[in-house]
Amino acid sequence: MGNIKLQDKRQGTYLNQQIQSGDFTSFMLFVGQTGIGKMDSALEFAASVLCDNVSGEPCQMCSNCKLVVSGNHPDLLQVGGEGTIKIASIRELQKSLYLKPYQAKHKVAIIRDSHLMTEESANAMLKVLEEPPENCIIILTSPDKKLLPGTVVSRSQIVNFGTVILQKTEDNEEIFVDAVNILKKSQFYEKMAMAQKYSKEKPLTVDFLNALEGILREAILGENDLNSDYSERKIISVLELVEKSREYLKNNLSGKFVLENLIINLG
Ligand SMILES: [Zn+2]
Repeated sequence: MGNIKLQDKRQGTYLNQQIQSGDFTSFMLFVGQTGIGKMDSALEFAASVLCDNVSGEPCQMCSNCKLVVSGNHPDLLQVGGEGTIKIASIRELQKSLYLKPYQAKHKVAIIRDSHLMTEESANAMLKVLEEPPENCIIILTSPDKKLLPGTVVSRSQIVNFGTVILQKTEDNEEIFVDAVNILKKSQFYEKMAMAQKYSKEKPLTVDFLNALEGILREAILGENDLNSDYSERKIISVLELVEKSREYLKNNLSGKFVLENLIINLG
């Protein structure tokens, strides 16, 4: 069997079955919280698709595998991961998708953080989904399908990576109050005091980031009043900040540094 393992085993099996059978789903949308492994799984899946040997996992020996590892495979196309996804990137992708694969039997395109496509980019992507290029597999990743236009979502097979949502309870109400305050009202020195408070232990920092993300996502859906102060653009840029903070934490930067950096960038 292949080695793509997800929190939800059914979804991992779904990806591995495609590799085993060679019968691929053209458009997939990987959804789930940042840091949960969407991108790693997308790359792992792409490598398995491009590999010459159908063993379920990349053999690491064939020329396709070597090109993937070196980051130079001409049939593995990647867009996104650097903020807003502009139309020029999607146009370029579009062009190469309709060309035959150079080296492997398929082309695989990964659009990371696809919710950061501009409206124009999303429309161009929709055109591709409506006229599927042959022998192409397109994977979009996003923390939440609600952040993408329904027209794009309805044409994609959703692969759910699950979410670790911090539920609001009586015991952790304070963390949500503080998270709202950091976004809205407080003075700079008060915010810095909170960075101190929530960086005492790593799990606490993670909870605080999860609370922030929960509040920002609710705001996008109009489920709280944060959007009276924040434009949608601002909310998305803060969501990106939260995602970056999580990455910093994963890379073992101190909680205090991570939260202070977030606060400074909040402006
Ligand atoms: Zn291989």
